[in-house]
Amino acid sequence: MLGHLPKKVRIVEVGPRDGLQNEKTIVSMEDKVTFIKMLAASGMHEIEANSFVRVEKIPQMSDGIELFSSLKKESSLKNTKLISLIPNEKGLENALKAGVTEIAVVTATSNTFNKTNINATTDESLKRIDAVVARANKEGLRTRAYISTVFGCPYEGKTSLTELKRVANHLESLGVYEISLGDTIGIANPLQVKDTIQFLKADFSLDFFAMHFHDTRGMAVANILASLDMGMTSFDSSAGGLGGCPYAKGASGNVATEDLVFLFSSMGIETGIDMEKLAQASSFILGKLSQRSSSSKNLTAYLASKA
Ligand code: MG
Repeated sequence: MLGHLPKKVRIVEVGPRDGLQNEKTIVSMEDKVTFIKMLAASGMHEIEANSFVRVEKIPQMSDGIELFSSLKKESSLKNTKLISLIPNEKGLENALKAGVTEIAVVTATSNTFNKTNINATTDESLKRIDAVVARANKEGLRTRAYISTVFGCPYEGKTSLTELKRVANHLESLGVYEISLGDTIGIANPLQVKDTIQFLKADFSLDFFAMHFHDTRGMAVANILASLDMGMTSFDSSAGGLGGCPYAKGASGNVATEDLVFLFSSMGIETGIDMEKLAQASSFILGKLSQRSSSSKNLTAYLASKA
């Protein structure tokens, strides 16, 4: 293991959307803009900024059009890819009004998870995605896709690799530029990660995938290391570990960007991220959420060393 590490990796920051969406305290639009600008200033080039969902469903994301329009006016974000999560055609309509150019769509390999999460079977969700991506392609937008429950489902337990391949093939045929493989409940282990990547390698180019791990059981860094060893170089994470876990109250969700930055930079792998500036961004948003501590061990240690 660790015989052929890459020189650099790519980190996609998902804190402002995937993170904040799961936080109860509503953050003001101005504070979201500040947070995203601070993340960009830390060296983050790709940031999942918001979503265009129904307001009553996720109040934290109710400022979609207004927030994105404000971000578009920020000259410091000119070179930052801002990604918006789009659940359906109505969401895309609003995103187009706001000037979005990069979108993300989501489905899962578990029918029960899809039904619970987005009120559609997997096939119904793929139909919705077909319509969204067809329109996005026509409008010149780029689409990233998430597949949830790749390593396990909170309702169905183990999920199928054959189904993963089927869903990934479908998304690839639509022309998405990347698929992010989600360990939605933080249940994966390094051997399973290795087997899953090995399985996909037979049909896909590995740089078509990013890995999206949750740290619910403290396994995210181990799983990232296993992915890295298999040749993966793109990883999603959330500043300060924002987000928590909707399936286990009080548990961790998204792996913290700070933990990835330490893992990679301490092994001489370039991330392009300035830890000091990242810690400032995370501290800023954790303060707005009235959270005195972060689930990130590295952020906690870093701030303690500066105190
Ligand atoms: Mg996540």
